[in-house]
Amino acid sequence: LPEQEAFDIEYWLLEEAKLQRMPKPKSLAGRVALVTGGAGGIGSATAERYLAEGACVMLADIDAAALADTGAALAKRHGKDVVRTVAMNVTDETAVAAAYAVMAVEFGGVDILVSNAGIASSAPVEDTSLALWNKNMDILSTGYFLVSRAAFRMMRAQDMGGSIIFVASKNGLAASPNASAYCTAKAAEIHLARCLALEGAEAGIRVNVVNPDAVLRGSKIWSGEWLDQRASTYKTDKEGLEEMYRQRSMLKRSVYPEDIAEAAYFFASDHASKSTGNILNVDAGNVQAFTR
Ligand code: NAD
Repeated sequence: LPEQEAFDIEYWLLEEAKLQRMPKPKSLAGRVALVTGGAGGIGSATAERYLAEGACVMLADIDAAALADTGAALAKRHGKDVVRTVAMNVTDETAVAAAYAVMAVEFGGVDILVSNAGIASSAPVEDTSLALWNKNMDILSTGYFLVSRAAFRMMRAQDMGGSIIFVASKNGLAASPNASAYCTAKAAEIHLARCLALEGAEAGIRVNVVNPDAVLRGSKIWSGEWLDQRASTYKTDKEGLEEMYRQRSMLKRSVYPEDIAEAAYFFASDHASKSTGNILNVDAGNVQAFTR
């Protein structure tokens, strides 16, 4: 090689090596996310994933004590400037509006909403009181409506698009025994997401659904009423339920909060810039299988 050309190549290789050593920009840097149910298993895992990718995260939850603990733990790992908490009941219209006002003050707006706050509570249909039915509809369907309506209002005003992720359930697609109230409320969430995807498309607001199968580890749902109800329906205990869900999945694997967080990260990120109105089942292949 002529001397100058060899020099140029060497120079270029050195510059390239320098670039390789430079830290890569984080994929959610500059984005602001609101995660409802942020003190719970799936919500906190999702917040952790977003923070690792450089987002600022507001955790919202009805459980103020758990919220404070989760917020403090995340702030310790990721820095106190990027984590905030707000106590909020998703069924309370005024509290939801107030939480978005806090978002605007603390972080300047919202780019990502993870609507995830929820309960699991059901009974055989003949034992389902109107109060139990309404509780499922209020917290799940209506709660998801209220937080996403507020996100729409703020995202439209910002005029920069946005990403809304609903953590629904595979029970919103498939029936589960003795759980008609929960299954119906989850089905409404999924259909709401489709409707909002259509309404938001022109403004660049994407709306997608992540459907977990049973996530027994790390979830508070699987410790009280729902655990007792499922255990009695399937005549087993918590370990037996986990094994049952594992065995009836195609992959014969359990699903963890981090698996749901990964799917929620995909939809929040630019990797999903062409995805809206979609449903991603994170279920080890349970929904599409009949393996009982
Ligand atoms: P979790 O109980 O660990 O977390 C849920 C959080 O929501 C809790 O911190 C709770 O305090 C909060 N919450 C409940 N009611 C609220 C309200 N009215 N307003 C604000 N916050 C409220 O449960 P999780 O497993 O992390 O569940 C998260 C979501 O995933 C729920 O919507 C649930 O239905 C869904 N899901 C869970 C499973 C599972 O097996 N864990 C399976 C499918 C779907």
